[in-house]
Amino acid sequence: MTVIDPLANLATLIRCPSVTPSEGGALSALEAMLKPLGFAVERVTAAEDGTPDIENLYARLGTDGPHLMFAGHTDVVPVGDEAAWTHGPFSADIADGEMYGRGAVDMKGGIACFAAAVARHIEKNGKPQGSISFLITGDEEGPAINGTVKLLEWAAAKGERWDACLVGEPTNPDKLGDMIKIGRRGSLSGTVTVHGVQGHAAYPHLADSPVRGILSLTQALMDPPFDAGTDDFQPSNLEVTTIDVANTAVNVIPAKASARFNIRFNDTWSVDSLKAEIIARLDRAGADSVLRPGRPPVKYDIVWSERPSHVFLTRNNALIASLSGAVEAVTGREPTLSTTGGTSDARFIKDYCPVVEFGLVGQTMHMVDERVAVADLETLTQIYETFISRWFGHAAD
Ligand SMILES: [Zn+2]
Repeated sequence: MTVIDPLANLATLIRCPSVTPSEGGALSALEAMLKPLGFAVERVTAAEDGTPDIENLYARLGTDGPHLMFAGHTDVVPVGDEAAWTHGPFSADIADGEMYGRGAVDMKGGIACFAAAVARHIEKNGKPQGSISFLITGDEEGPAINGTVKLLEWAAAKGERWDACLVGEPTNPDKLGDMIKIGRRGSLSGTVTVHGVQGHAAYPHLADSPVRGILSLTQALMDPPFDAGTDDFQPSNLEVTTIDVANTAVNVIPAKASARFNIRFNDTWSVDSLKAEIIARLDRAGADSVLRPGRPPVKYDIVWSERPSHVFLTRNNALIASLSGAVEAVTGREPTLSTTGGTSDARFIKDYCPVVEFGLVGQTMHMVDERVAVADLETLTQIYETFISRWFGHAAD
């Protein structure tokens, strides 16, 4: 079975130009790797008005439990300035022990290694005592509407159930073995608009400056801190990302001012409790900081972004121990169990089964000259293979 070689698998995948939303041949290439291993492969195209149709793939080996899912994406971000690449972004060229190509680490590399790990497991032990599935989307780097969410719904509707999931996103900051993600912070954004009264800057008593109001309100959003963090999470943090007045005249008090903010929050909050806290802060600051002495409280409105990301933390010890034990057995390093960084598709999977994330070193992801150390591909394959053995061992206990 050639699938046992992660380097060959990755070269095949990199040569498919699967920039979101294009399938680029990548899912067909993966299908060709999985079918000889005995996987039943299904291709699922998802559509929704206003977004491009997206091809996805679901493949399962085995019919019994326990059931381990590997999740990821074959789509990649655009190459940027192609001329700036040392080797072509779809070349899979190897130089100085590194393979070049868009998606090398994010995350065709993870898929290439997991496929190789399954092939090796089968070669040594036969089919697993249970089931392994691949849930692979072509819409992770895009709007993520026709990807993992719909694929999970589709699979669950036809009776698929999972006991655990490993997401193969790049999780290591510097070296393979640094970090496993066992949860993710939530993310919530909003836009606050303060309405004032437009007027002449020399006659402020006839106007209400919304700029004064937006400054007070944004200050109240940023201070005091929302919490001090927990054992598992960093403190929640709100950043005001832009303040917009769009005023081109120096002698005009504008009519309104807006600010946008984004908060990354830990599990001391839910989306609802956080919204309530933010509104309480805005109401207080609005009441305390009239635009001019004698004026009524600052009037504002707030629009929340659609589809906030919910916070989650995985507490499945068998899953975490299988993975972190595998990392340590292969690399000799004890990985940090982390909840840092941005959101990932794990935020959707957590509604179906416990989920952890471990993949390659993320340093070059989304950059020109994205590349992966050839040695890391072999190491990650060994980690995944060890993880598979340990997880099925634990799950059978
Ligand atoms: Zn990714």
